[in-house]
Amino acid sequence: MRILLVEDDAVLGDGLSLSLNDWGFDVTLAVTGNYASSALSTQPYDLVILDLGLPDMDGRELLRQLRARKSAIPVLILTARDGLNDRVSGLELGADDYMTKPFELRELEARVKALLRRSHGGFNHDIRFGRLVLDPLTQQLTVDDKPMLLPPREYGVMEALLLQAGRVVSKDSIAQRLASHSDDLADNAIEVYVHRLRKRLEPLGIRIRTVRGLGYLLEQDSDE
Ligand code: CA
Repeated sequence: MRILLVEDDAVLGDGLSLSLNDWGFDVTLAVTGNYASSALSTQPYDLVILDLGLPDMDGRELLRQLRARKSAIPVLILTARDGLNDRVSGLELGADDYMTKPFELRELEARVKALLRRSHGGFNHDIRFGRLVLDPLTQQLTVDDKPMLLPPREYGVMEALLLQAGRVVSKDSIAQRLASHSDDLADNAIEVYVHRLRKRLEPLGIRIRTVRGLGYLLEQDSDE
């Protein structure tokens, strides 16, 4: 899950970025409204955490632009202003939640996850495949309750296969998923990642079957 954090306070911005990373999110930090605006028009994000007092614009202007473009992306407003008017006008403009600084990190984590679960109906539940379990929200992959750590691109392939478990996943759709992590994908890159994943999955009794001309299919040994 990708989060755009719009915060011009360097200390708070860096600290929150680290925390969001720890919670399993990809974070882009924007320190101006203009930077945030261009990031939002070029990259897909799952949530925006928005400070209202930005050096080049009021955060509410950014929110107004976003909703004017019919974007339904969840927005959590984060601000030092605790006036009722700020809160009401932010919510009227289409913010989904509102937190006043200073706040507890644990509360922010809970609210961010609640917003993401609400906006991704299909991401409410863990995906289980044999001994593998994926929490798509936090991108935590576990085997028998122990974390299985994968390099980002291998994780991307694994996630694509698990989200579509039981169906053949085309190479194109895997490539699209990876494109958001990296811009230079060699022609045979997906084959390489699949090859590596096969070795990791073999001890778990899970196979990645190549369906010629169509893509890949996740299978368990017991499926035979
Ligand atoms: Ca600020």
